[in-house]
Amino acid sequence: MFHVEQRESTENPQRGGLFHVKQLASITQLCYVSFYFGERVLARVIAVANQKGGVGKTTTAVNLAACLAAAEQPTLLIDCDSQANATAAIGFPKDPSRRTVYHALIMGEAFERIVQKSQVEGLDVVPADKNLAGAAVELVTAEEREYKLQTFLQPLRERYKFVVLDCPPALDLLTLNALVSADSVLVPIQCEYLALEGVSELLDTLMRIRRTLNPSLEIEGILLTMYDERTTLSRQVATDLRSFFGTQVFQSLIPRNVRLAEAPSFGKPIIFYDIHSKGAEGYTQLAQEVIANAEKRVGAGARSAHSGA
Ligand code: ATP
Ligand code: MG
Repeated sequence: MFHVEQRESTENPQRGGLFHVKQLASITQLCYVSFYFGERVLARVIAVANQKGGVGKTTTAVNLAACLAAAEQPTLLIDCDSQANATAAIGFPKDPSRRTVYHALIMGEAFERIVQKSQVEGLDVVPADKNLAGAAVELVTAEEREYKLQTFLQPLRERYKFVVLDCPPALDLLTLNALVSADSVLVPIQCEYLALEGVSELLDTLMRIRRTLNPSLEIEGILLTMYDERTTLSRQVATDLRSFFGTQVFQSLIPRNVRLAEAPSFGKPIIFYDIHSKGAEGYTQLAQEVIANAEKRVGAGARSAHSGA
C-alpha cells in the first residue's frame, strides 16, 4: 500500500490539484502509521449517546453512518436500542428470525452470523429488535457484563474505518457497553428550551467511565440538532451551547428538516431519499468533519510515534 502511494505521487504531482494532494497527504499519513506499527489502522468506534429521548440520536447514527460509507469509508452501524429505530430506518423490515445484537451480547455468537450488508454500499449493520430490552435485564447478572460489546467488536475493528453505535435513551447497561467499547462519544443536543437538561448527568457518567472502565474515551463532539434558523430560541440555544462547550461543538449543524423525518419511513438514509435537502447537506458536512478529525488524529499519532513520544 505504501509503495503504491509513493509511485502515484511521483508520476504526476500536479494531477488532481489541491484535492488530490490533500487526499494523498492524508492517505500517506494513514499508511505511515500502519507502516510504522506494522499493523492495520483500526476502526474508530463512535457511540451516539444522550439519555434524553428524541434528540436525534438515531437520525444522526443512521445518516452519519450512511454518509461515511458514501465517502468510501467502510462503516458498521450497530443498533444498541431495543426500539430498533436505526434498524428500520436503514431499511430492514421486522423479521423475528433475524439475528441481532442480542445474540452477540447474550449468546456470544460470532459476528459472521450477525453482521448484515445494508442497501448502502460500504455500510454493514448489526440490527436490533425488541428482544434487546431483555438483554439489559439479563446482563445484570452476567460476568464481565460491561465488556460484552467490546469483546464482540474486537475482531471487527480491522474491517472498518468507522463503527457507529446508536444508543438507547437511558444510561443503562446497553449504553454502558457502548461507552466501554467506544473510542469516543458524539452527543446530539436538540436546539430547544432546556437543551442542556440531562447533559451534565451524561458528562458525569462519561467522566466516571473514563476513570474506571474506559480511560481513553474521548468526546467526538457535540452536535446541534433540529436547528431552526427562523426562531430566536434556536439561535440563542446554539449560541449558548457554543459558548459553553467551545470547540467541542461540531461546526456542522443539523437543521430541522421535514425530509429527515420522512426518510426513515421509506427505510432510506437522507442522502438516498433527498440528496438536495438541507438535512442531507448537514449530515454530509458532519461526515466530512468526522473524517477530517480522524485524519488529524492519525497525523498527530504519526508525529508522536516519529518523535518517540
Ligand atoms: P430516542 O431517544 O427515542 O431513541 P432519538 O434521540 O434517537 O430518540 P430520533 O429518533 O433520531 O431521536 O428523532 C426523534 C424524532 O425527530 C424522529 O421522529 C425523527 O424523525 C425526528 N427528527 C430527528 N432529527 C430531525 C431533524 N433534524 N429535523 C426534523 N425531524 C427530525
Ligand atoms: Mg433513537
